[in-house]
Amino acid sequence: MDLFSVNHIQCTFLKKKKNGLIILSQADLENGFANIRYDVFKTTYASFWVELIHFWLEEDKVQSDLYDLLFFSLDALNAGTIEKEVLNLLFQIRFMSISGFSPNIENCDICKTPVDHIEQKNLRFDFKEGRIICQNCVKNRSKYGMTISKGTLKQLFWINNSDISRADRLRFSGFAIEEGTRLLEAFIPFHIGRDFKSLRFLNRLRQDK
Ligand SMILES: [Zn+2]
Repeated sequence: MDLFSVNHIQCTFLKKKKNGLIILSQADLENGFANIRYDVFKTTYASFWVELIHFWLEEDKVQSDLYDLLFFSLDALNAGTIEKEVLNLLFQIRFMSISGFSPNIENCDICKTPVDHIEQKNLRFDFKEGRIICQNCVKNRSKYGMTISKGTLKQLFWINNSDISRADRLRFSGFAIEEGTRLLEAFIPFHIGRDFKSLRFLNRLRQDK
């Protein structure tokens, strides 16, 4: 069975015990997403998503929301209906929501002012607490953080909360893609406490481009 492919699998359980032997009796390929493998960037994005999910999933625990997200993302990556960099943002922000560690990007976590009502253009993202802090409240509250613009936060909020079937209408500026990518690809490994091989490789590819 190839990587990034959807298969219909039939198994036989020899014993009813949890750790009993399982025999693979049939596997039919349903969708091979062949276009992903012809493009080194697409392959690397898909590898990152799969690595993240593989690390996060627990054995014997069904997570159909994560399955649906991965399926949607691989399908759109294969078809090229959504820019791959935008899809990578969509996958990461929704992965965090489903997994229960979504950062608060709606309002300043201290004075509670909604992003839309904050006057300054840039805010501080606090990695440790997974929250944003406005310039009035920041005062060295966290050394783990980065500056992020309101516009990027609003777009990330939108791709996390709008109907996923409308995701192909997303238009991100080059700046928002770059900033959003830097934020999410730093926050997820920080929060999980682990480096991802595919992410390191992705960054090497970007440098060589
Ligand atoms: Zn504030």
